[in-house]
Amino acid sequence: MDFAFKTITEFNDYFKDEKTCYEFLESRLWNGTPVCPHCGSIKTPYKVKARGKFTDIPSYRCSERACDLPFTVRTGGIFEGSKVELRKWLQAAYEISISKKGISSYELATRIGVSQKTGWFINHRLRAMLTETNPELLSGTIEIDETFVGGKNKNRHVSKKVKRSKISRTLDEKIEIPKTVVLGLLQRDGKVRTFVVPNTQGVTLNPIMRVNVETNSRIITDGWTAYQELKDQYSHVSVKGTVGSYITYGDQHTNNIEGYWSILKRGIVGTFHFVSPQHLQRYCDEFAHRYNTRSQTLDERFGESIKNAQNNRLTYRVLTPNIPDPIRKERYKKVKATLE
Ligand SMILES: [Zn+2]
Repeated sequence: MDFAFKTITEFNDYFKDEKTCYEFLESRLWNGTPVCPHCGSIKTPYKVKARGKFTDIPSYRCSERACDLPFTVRTGGIFEGSKVELRKWLQAAYEISISKKGISSYELATRIGVSQKTGWFINHRLRAMLTETNPELLSGTIEIDETFVGGKNKNRHVSKKVKRSKISRTLDEKIEIPKTVVLGLLQRDGKVRTFVVPNTQGVTLNPIMRVNVETNSRIITDGWTAYQELKDQYSHVSVKGTVGSYITYGDQHTNNIEGYWSILKRGIVGTFHFVSPQHLQRYCDEFAHRYNTRSQTLDERFGESIKNAQNNRLTYRVLTPNIPDPIRKERYKKVKATLE
């Protein structure tokens, strides 16, 4: 189905009820052939009457004798286990796809009419949906750089200030840096890919580059020693110069990735104010998705993101790994209650 919405109102008019939303999702994920999420069978399932509030939504039971389980298009994907209507999920996905800098949980919650906690949960699940599932190798000319994301030391409460917060790449100083390191690979006229990494050592950075960049590609980095090891596999250009003072020779520069960092940082600071290191990768993925689909129309971008809805499911447990189980259970109950 091709569609083009000029406004969010048009979008909401089109997705007027749950049935339309389910049928839309089926067309995007199944292409006309229902797939059982439990056993993967594509044998035509039995149609059954849906239970619950919406009885007109398409609902099935697997026709494989060994399986025989009920399912809908929501089962097994990022929309599973949530009592929030699919309409609201799709609206949230649309709002995120068309926004230039992302939407804070608070704003999202207000827009789609859920609690802030639910908004936070939906936002993170949708972000997981924006992660590339089968990324191809980057090739051609690739600019590589790292950056540091985190709060400024001068804005911290006295008890939380760190003594030497100056950005440093040496190992013994890194422990005191409260910032998180992000490695970025940007293919000229192509995609960007970013990784939250524990440090800037060669043993950390180089394996990531080797699995993401095609051999014999041309890579451009700054003079950081860790990158020198890549010479065996790539044609390596090292651009000297420190942050803020670039000397560029023709196309030997890392301006694109530097530009990307400023978009990322402005987005994170401007929209989200604070991102905990634990969740930073997903924010990075959201921004990368936005950059990588920059030539698409807003509707194409939305359609593209929905395709991943069947993968990348993110549970509350994965979202909050540091919370002890009893507390998590309590919180989960609360979040579940708001989802209902
Ligand atoms: Zn089955």
